[in-house]
Amino acid sequence: MGRLENKVAIITGGASGIGEQIVDLFSKEGAIVIAADINEEAPKKAEQNENVYGIKLNVASDEEWENVAKEVKDRFGKIDVLVNNAGISSEKTYQDINLEDWQKMLAINGFGPFAGIKHVAPYMAEQKSGSIVNISSYTAQIGQGFNHYSASKGAVRALSKAAATQFGRSGVRVNTLFPGVIETPMTQALTQYQELLNQLIQATPLQRLGKPQDIAQAALFLASEESSYITGAEIVIDGGFSAQ
Ligand code: NAD
Repeated sequence: MGRLENKVAIITGGASGIGEQIVDLFSKEGAIVIAADINEEAPKKAEQNENVYGIKLNVASDEEWENVAKEVKDRFGKIDVLVNNAGISSEKTYQDINLEDWQKMLAINGFGPFAGIKHVAPYMAEQKSGSIVNISSYTAQIGQGFNHYSASKGAVRALSKAAATQFGRSGVRVNTLFPGVIETPMTQALTQYQELLNQLIQATPLQRLGKPQDIAQAALFLASEESSYITGAEIVIDGGFSAQ
């Protein structure tokens, strides 16, 4: 018996990196998984596993979120789990960031999870149960020079707390993960990656970078009934880096 047997779970950004790993793990644990991504690869990946369905979604669109939430509810009868994982990053310096950069970052990383909760939580509230897992970042807590990316992840931290308070009485739990540097296409695309990578391993108490599985396992715990009394909580998964 899987830990998510018969649960219906929407995972945003399910076509790559951490999201892809969460999709795989949740489907192995018995969930019906909807991998939602702006990238058309999500539906293709879905065909490889009978429990996984791909759907195109731009998380920055209020309208697309409304349609996706309704479609999933109509097709599967319920929504038990939402993982707000989709996101973008940027290495732009403080001086180079303009309003357009700011708005794009905050639209995808901030409004994306907000709109997901806005459209999915009411269905969960109707059922009197649901678990929402938001993926913030250790940069929400210590900055790390990522500027507007850090700010967008700070927004995720705050909106998670607000949503936990708002929807707790309806049986909906909202928790947040704070990954450190995880080996995914996102971090591999950073031009300073090699230098950063070596520095980070040295500076990390557990002496390695994170893997997508490290995040997926924590998301599984928060999505499952094992965490049924946990809401508004924050789990930092960075090998101890930000504890120093
Ligand atoms: P990734 O780039 O490998 O995957 C991100 C996925 O999100 C991609 O499939 C992409 O197509 C999708 N996406 C981007 N914009 C979208 C949009 N507007 N609508 C829908 N989907 C969209 O990144 P990852 O490293 O797996 O990161 C996943 C999450 O974890 C992100 O929120 C990221 O900020 C966060 N995070 C990552 C790290 C890390 O070191 N990799 C650290 C902390 C937090």
